[in-house]
Order: sequence, then C-alpha cells, then structure tokens
Amino acid sequence: MMPEISSKLFTKLLNLGDQWEAYDTQYVEEKNTIFIRIRETPELLKNQRCREDKRRKVKLYDHVEPRFWRHLNVFNCECLIECALPRFKCQHCEKVWRAKAPWEGKCKGLSEEFEAFALTLMKEMPVKSASRILNENDKRLWRVLKAYVQEAHKELDLSGVTQVGSDELSYRKGHKYLTVFADMQKKRVIFATKGKDKSTWETFSDELQELNGHPHAITYAAIDMSPAYQSGVRNNCRNARIVFDKFHVMKLVGERVDQVRKAESSYGTGEAKVQLKKTLWLWRKNPENLSESEQVRFDGIDHDYLWTSKAYQMRLALQKIYNTIPYQSWAERRLKSWCNWVNRVCDEAPYWIMKPMRKTVETIQNHWDGILAHWSSGGLTTAYLEGLNSVFSAVKRKARGFRNTDNLITMLYFVAGKLKV
Ligand SMILES: [Zn+2]
Repeated sequence: MMPEISSKLFTKLLNLGDQWEAYDTQYVEEKNTIFIRIRETPELLKNQRCREDKRRKVKLYDHVEPRFWRHLNVFNCECLIECALPRFKCQHCEKVWRAKAPWEGKCKGLSEEFEAFALTLMKEMPVKSASRILNENDKRLWRVLKAYVQEAHKELDLSGVTQVGSDELSYRKGHKYLTVFADMQKKRVIFATKGKDKSTWETFSDELQELNGHPHAITYAAIDMSPAYQSGVRNNCRNARIVFDKFHVMKLVGERVDQVRKAESSYGTGEAKVQLKKTLWLWRKNPENLSESEQVRFDGIDHDYLWTSKAYQMRLALQKIYNTIPYQSWAERRLKSWCNWVNRVCDEAPYWIMKPMRKTVETIQNHWDGILAHWSSGGLTTAYLEGLNSVFSAVKRKARGFRNTDNLITMLYFVAGKLKV
C-alpha cells in the first residue's frame, strides 16, 4: 500500500475520475519501471448499464487476469499501469461484459496518452527515431500509427471527388511500386495500392465506392503516359478525360535527355565523351537552378557541338510552351512546331544518339489530346503532382525500415492524407 497522498495524486494525474483509483505503486529498480496498480471503485458498478438492454440491474461478475498498459514515463522511469478489469453481468438477460478502462488505447498494452505522445513524435520524425526515444519496439509504434490512420481513413468522405491525379511511388531501389491516388481539388492523397498495372485503378474504384465516392463521377484523371494507367482509367472511370499533365510530360522528356547524354557518351566523338563526363545533374536542372560552380562547369561545355545540348534545349523549349502559353489552340500550334523542329534536328543527327528525342515526338503525337487537355483543365494539376513527388521522399525517409508496404501506405496517408489523426 502506498501512502494516501500518492494514491490520490496518481488517481488525479491519470484522470481516473471517481470510478477508478490507483491503490498501489511499486518501483522496480532493475527495470527502471514504475508499476501503478489500479482498481475500480463502487462508483463504476453504480454507473453500469447492460450493454444489451440498457437495464441497470447489474452485478459484479468477476475480474479478468491482470493486464499491463505502457503509459507516459514518470520522472524518466517507464510506467506500467496494472489492472484486473472487472466484468459485469446483467441480472435480467445474463449478458456478461468487461469494463472498458478510461486509459486504454487502441493498441493492446498501451495507454491512450502513450499512443497520443507516440503519434506526436512520429509526426516530427522517422518511426525508427521515435522508437529509440520511447524505448519501444518499432513494430508496436507502426501498430499504433496504423490503428489511428486506418480509423481516420475509413471516415473519409470521397463523395465530392471529381479530379484525380495518380503517380507511382517507387521503393526498394526502384523495383517495387505503389500507385498513389490524389484528390486534385482538396490536394490530398486519398488512396494507394501495390503495383502499377491497370488493376490498381480497379482497386481504387472499389475504394472510392466504399467511401461514398463514385468512379463515374471522375471527370479528370491526370496520369503519366503508361498504357496500363490509360486502360485502367478507361475501364473504370468512363466519364474521365485523361490529362497527361505537365509534370509527367516534363519528367518523361527529362529522362529522354538523360538517355541522349548516355548515348552520346557511348557513341559520340572522343571530344563529346570528355565533355559529358560527370554532367548528369547539370542537364537535369533548369539553368536558373544551377549553383555558381555548376554554372561555371556548364558554361565550360562546348554546347555548339554536343547533341546532348540540343536535346537539353528541346526540353527547355517545351517547358517554355507550358510556362508561357495560356490557350489551348495557341499551345497546339507551338507544340506542332516543336515536334517539327525536333524531327528536323534529329534528321541531321547520328541515329543512335538522338533516337530518344525522336521517340519523344512520337510519344507526344500519340498522346496529343491528353497533352492538350493540360490547357483545357486549367493546368490545375501540375504543381500538386510535382509537390507530391517530394512528399514521397519525405514519406520514405520517415518510414525507413518500414517492414511491409501496408506500413508505407499508412505513413503516406499520415503525411499527405490530411486526415484527422
Ligand atoms: Zn441485459
């Protein structure tokens, strides 16, 4: 038994009210742990009603085996609540139930306040770091996160979703993918699932309906140019106009410039090979984003004689069309000229070096309507999709060592889902 005063103090600190009381504490030195033992007071029985028929004629039935809940640390000691929860029985219908304790969290063996603190930490840092600070197994923290995030996700109301953007998130060094779906108006991630084939859109449609939405209510779908996503949209969202948004088009063209650089490094002149060494990142950036030293290196390149420089100029010219032209008909004219120009330059180039740019023209021509839809949809989608890609990196950082894809999806919802967690 502990002195009256500390019993009262813990009862108050734990916010137990008058139906529960702390009646004993024990400090176990070798575990640096404080045990707080709690039991019910007669008030609990007085306030019980049958779970079934709401009648008040209830008696105490028995107590279950003592259980433990990890609670917030007290004076840097780990703190465990110990309690044998009572069971009650209705004298009318004989139903038996176990009392619910006010400190119980959503996960077995954790108090609600401990879970709340763990969530606060996980908002700010990777799960691994939170696990170190709390001295708690990261598996357990993932369970906490999942319990809260899933509950909030189930509460989502997707009835107003009409514009969807999707993108792939690669993990495990690019060999595994999630397809991520975002509500482009509310600018939040609403769903993610394994893989990047057309079935991901079917899974998404099911989920939409589960959460009050409807795949036929989708009027715009912003996607990359993969055939799988296109048929996924067509098969599931029949009223959706497919938009190949600026972000995805520019990403593709950037990759093609990379391919030209690689090809010229292999098949180009000796001089070209020397000039292209270690320049990968220079071509990926826009000129205004080059650092001072990168600028010096970039200016040192003899651009007049490099095919890579021409491919790079093509990327910038396309980007300029996106950035400066507000109308679809005007954009269409400029896109046509761009395609013609690229083809003319490619005609004069060694086939294997500029082949990726020639392919780019074909890709753009084959996706003409969807690319022009960028202008008719008001170009809404691009900034968010671009931002989402940096969110993906943050999510992967925070989920480092995430054990399974469910956890990764949980973290994605937690960071980018705008959920009430
Ligand atoms: Zn009853």
